[in-house]
Amino acid sequence: METSQSLLDELNTEQKNATTTDNQYTIVLAGAGSGKTRVLVHRIAWLCIEKQYSPSSIFAVTFTNKAAAEMQERIQALVGEGYFNGMWVGTFHGLSHRLLRMFSEQAKLPPNFQLIDTEDQVRLIKRIFRELKIDEKQWSAKQCAAFISTQKEKGLRADDIVPEDPKQVMWQRIYHDYQVICDKLGYLDFSELILRTYELLCQNQEVLNYCHRRFCNILIDEFQDTNKIQYRLVKKLAGNTANVMIVGDDDQSIYSWRGANADNLQLFINDYPETEIIRLEQNYRSTNNILDAANKLIAQNSKRLGKNLWTDSGDGEQILLYIGYNDIDEARFVTGQIKKRHQEGDNYSSCAILYRSNAQSRIFEDTLLQAGLPYQIYGSIRFYERQEVKLALAYLRLLHDHNNDMAFEAVINTPTRGIGTITLDRVRTVAKQHSISLWDACLMLIQTNALSERQCSGLSRFLDLMEFIFDKVESQPVYKQLDMIIKLSGILQMYEQEPGIKGQSRLENLEELVSAAEQFHHSNENTIIQDNETGKTLTVLESFLAYTSLESRDVINEQNSIQLMTLHSAKGLEFDNVFIVGLEDGVFPDQRSAQDPEKMEEERRLAYVGITRARKRLTLSLAQIRRLYGREERNLPSRFLNELPVDALNEISHQDFIRVSDRKEYNDPKKSYPKKARQNDDGYRLGRKVLHSRFGEGTIVSIDGDGDHRRAQIAFVNEGIKWLVIKLANLTLL
Ligand code: ATP
Ligand code: MG
Repeated sequence: METSQSLLDELNTEQKNATTTDNQYTIVLAGAGSGKTRVLVHRIAWLCIEKQYSPSSIFAVTFTNKAAAEMQERIQALVGEGYFNGMWVGTFHGLSHRLLRMFSEQAKLPPNFQLIDTEDQVRLIKRIFRELKIDEKQWSAKQCAAFISTQKEKGLRADDIVPEDPKQVMWQRIYHDYQVICDKLGYLDFSELILRTYELLCQNQEVLNYCHRRFCNILIDEFQDTNKIQYRLVKKLAGNTANVMIVGDDDQSIYSWRGANADNLQLFINDYPETEIIRLEQNYRSTNNILDAANKLIAQNSKRLGKNLWTDSGDGEQILLYIGYNDIDEARFVTGQIKKRHQEGDNYSSCAILYRSNAQSRIFEDTLLQAGLPYQIYGSIRFYERQEVKLALAYLRLLHDHNNDMAFEAVINTPTRGIGTITLDRVRTVAKQHSISLWDACLMLIQTNALSERQCSGLSRFLDLMEFIFDKVESQPVYKQLDMIIKLSGILQMYEQEPGIKGQSRLENLEELVSAAEQFHHSNENTIIQDNETGKTLTVLESFLAYTSLESRDVINEQNSIQLMTLHSAKGLEFDNVFIVGLEDGVFPDQRSAQDPEKMEEERRLAYVGITRARKRLTLSLAQIRRLYGREERNLPSRFLNELPVDALNEISHQDFIRVSDRKEYNDPKKSYPKKARQNDDGYRLGRKVLHSRFGEGTIVSIDGDGDHRRAQIAFVNEGIKWLVIKLANLTLL
């Protein structure tokens, strides 16, 4: 364990002030990489070591599970393992879940309530559509699910909504029915977790008192991305006595589309006028070139609280800008660069490829696979949302909770057992008539001989199989249970028969699931804490199931693999080598933001987040031709490229790349790019607007060649795309 003094030795003066402040309310408002998260971690250690607070007084919130895991690790390293037990460190969702489990009765939830994901949510809504005879083609269940989540994030129940149009009248009705079903069956969607916790604290004085007595220290990272209901939850939890430290950066607010609001920073200052504001200005993460680019870019935004960031870590390398011929070329280039980094001694895990939307990942996955490089992908289809993983987990859930109808539906006929839709409909109807679970409805139908012999034997066989598996696994740890389920339920045989690489990867995922469960088991078997006051505790099985429902970022072995993720999920992280790809107007910034200045500012903040993830090297890239969503597109270079400082950029295009790699000099850094530091001193650069006497106004989308041969590809507003030799074209720069 560190001493109080050694804790402070690792901090600068402002960071020290923040770490040791005796003020009840503190905001650390600072730009990327200035040590906000570091301050939070050190403060937690300081509170425990110097101020002698019990670790269980700590309630610390981060934005993703990955960030929470990292924070836990960092705290543990400072305070030691024994100390760590009892601290609550997690996401808003994770911590709310924990509180609701502890006080399920007071929250009017069945003790075995289940979390449902977006897919389940949409399925439920479709069921309501059918019952209300709503045309599924005309009304989107997905949109309705999003509406419900948004309302919950605003803290609104169906009855609180004042509909603005006929569509909302309909959504309101469905929200109402949806909630009735969820409450009856004990289902909780993600937004409900937080709203329900907030309501619990508002409605139950006993629980509120417990929280106030216990959580004397509340600390929140990435505060700029809290939404309304989370803000209210924090206030409620804090009461009048807790110490609250929030850290954030308005320039990194990137979740307004999910109801987050950077104004919460200002709101906090208004709500607690005695708040001490501490600013951190030194960036410890990036080189000057990277920081300079980030600063210049974000300076284009109008709505900012304003911050200065500086670094003393030197200029570092220039930012590389690669203009690919097409998306495949772009992906190959990035792959080649990563190979090169690896040959020069960097770990694969120090390289991150960041993109605007999940759909962009596939081409990088393909290229990395072909090159035989290890990679890990966050987001897209999250590990625990993959079909085969969900299926195995559904078996596990149903075995331990026969009343889990969602799990029942998922497994009853997968693998196929010849139980027909008519039989299943009977089961559903009986369940509904008697308000019982589908499992109990099966039993009832069998016992009352209400089915034909064939129907009956199908259901009996299924129930017998489940009993058989249950007997075998009951006393085993969770990972052994999963292993046996996969083997005994028929899942394994089913996927073994699925041809090709798909079946293979499903089997691998199932193996991965077992090892994830094993890992979870080992790291949690001794750390589950019994709460003294309520006496409640989560079993490893329960926490594992909750964990798989909540978030799934950090499952696959992270060691030494290239990290692929959206810019959104890169928040708070850092990598030596960052590749931001797909820098084209319409891709990043995305199409929807073009007409909306506020959205455009949010896109710019996202670019700021992306750039500031890089510690040593930043590579930006784009493709002149891209296939996305089945269409071939020629986009203009991202407008953000134009907002970066020219001196910091080293621009190369696919012609250079192909020529150089053909000459097999690719691995020699000195020879790699003969036009390295090609100075754009003639002013012709990517994205620049020009005027041609005959063709009118256009934008440069590509440049190559040197001297008299230097030519530009220009997308003219009215004349299409043309290659012109700059020397002869008589262009005017706009
Ligand atoms: P972001 O806004 O991206 O979340 P942040 O402000 O939370 O960034 P941290 O992640 O805490 O920044 O710190 C960035 C990097 O700088 C980390 O690697 C951290 O260890 C390092 N760092 C921060 N402060 C110091 C310091 N005083 N001395 C040395 N390294 C530091
Ligand atoms: Mg941080």
